[in-house]
Amino acid sequence: MFCLKRIFSYNLNWICRQFSASAAARGSQTPVGFIGLGNMGGSMAENLLATGHRVIVYDKVQDSVKLLQDKGAVVGKNPAEVAQQAERIITMLPSSPHVQEVYLGPDGILSAVKGGALLVDCSTIDPAVAIEVSKKASDKAAVFMDAPVSGGVVAAKAASLTFMVGGQETEFDAVKELLLHMGKNVIRCGIVGTGQTAKICNNMLLAISMIGVSEALNLGSRLGLDPKTLSSIMNISTGRCWSSDTYNPVPGVIEGVPSSNNYNGGFGSALMCKDLGLAQTAAINTQTPTPLGSQALQMYRTMVMKGYGLKDFSSVYKYLSTEEECETKN
Ligand code: NAD
Repeated sequence: MFCLKRIFSYNLNWICRQFSASAAARGSQTPVGFIGLGNMGGSMAENLLATGHRVIVYDKVQDSVKLLQDKGAVVGKNPAEVAQQAERIITMLPSSPHVQEVYLGPDGILSAVKGGALLVDCSTIDPAVAIEVSKKASDKAAVFMDAPVSGGVVAAKAASLTFMVGGQETEFDAVKELLLHMGKNVIRCGIVGTGQTAKICNNMLLAISMIGVSEALNLGSRLGLDPKTLSSIMNISTGRCWSSDTYNPVPGVIEGVPSSNNYNGGFGSALMCKDLGLAQTAAINTQTPTPLGSQALQMYRTMVMKGYGLKDFSSVYKYLSTEEECETKN
């Protein structure tokens, strides 16, 4: 028994030494892989390039890859090829199945990952999938952490995102150092999956507040108030929130946000619908009452069915005002 304990302890020390060596090898100067160059990932990868990193990118959409290539990124043929060239890899993908494909698929990251590599998934996905990928990464001696973000496309461009990190405490400093090139706040929530938990709770609240702001501004507008005037009052009153003062859903109230760009870019209603679905699954599993979260899911699901899926989630204002016009005409 004593002998077995010694062998175990010796091997553990050896693994730790190897691991620290790999951690040092992926220091702040090593290349960074970036997979998923959409509304968020494109700007995040650009910010890494702008801060002097060598970035190896991959996306299924060639146009998105080309934009980054023109700015100096190296292009990988698939996630496996990115993993062969980078010890630190960030993924920013739409949802759980995409993350499973990119990590676990035949040409996925884990098919070629280097031992000791740091894998950071910034997508918003099911916490259970984050845990599944983490276990499989650990089988390959790599470290996986979830780090979903808040702040939207504006913060992604301005490198002022908030990251909610789930993963080993011993790896947090390395992750933080990397993420601070794309954001201002990096908060460790706990073990793997807890970043996702924080994110889906935040987004349930965001959807509810965006619907609330849209309802109020639509009512005010119907009563003859200029939405700009009403918004400026809300923003110094008790109704103030991010959906009213930073990401207002009425076109022309704030310049540079999706509502002033025909609801293009930004955070698609289909993605919000996905996050609300994740929140409802979590609520069912824990028997937690979330009546407004459930209503918000129904609202966004209906919007997706009516063709708003790719429009920014603030288009709930347009949806409400258009529905109302239809009702009035009937
Ligand atoms: P997006 O749809 O604009 O971008 C996703 C990118 O992933 C696309 O370029 C797509 O081509 C690529 N992709 C999909 N499958 C792929 C695969 N198998 N291999 C390689 N690339 C693949 O989405 P987004 O708005 O950038 O959001 C990304 C994630 O961030 C989502 O999980 C979303 O919920 C979350 N998020 C978005 C926002 C926002 O404001 N857009 C804010 C916070 C969090």
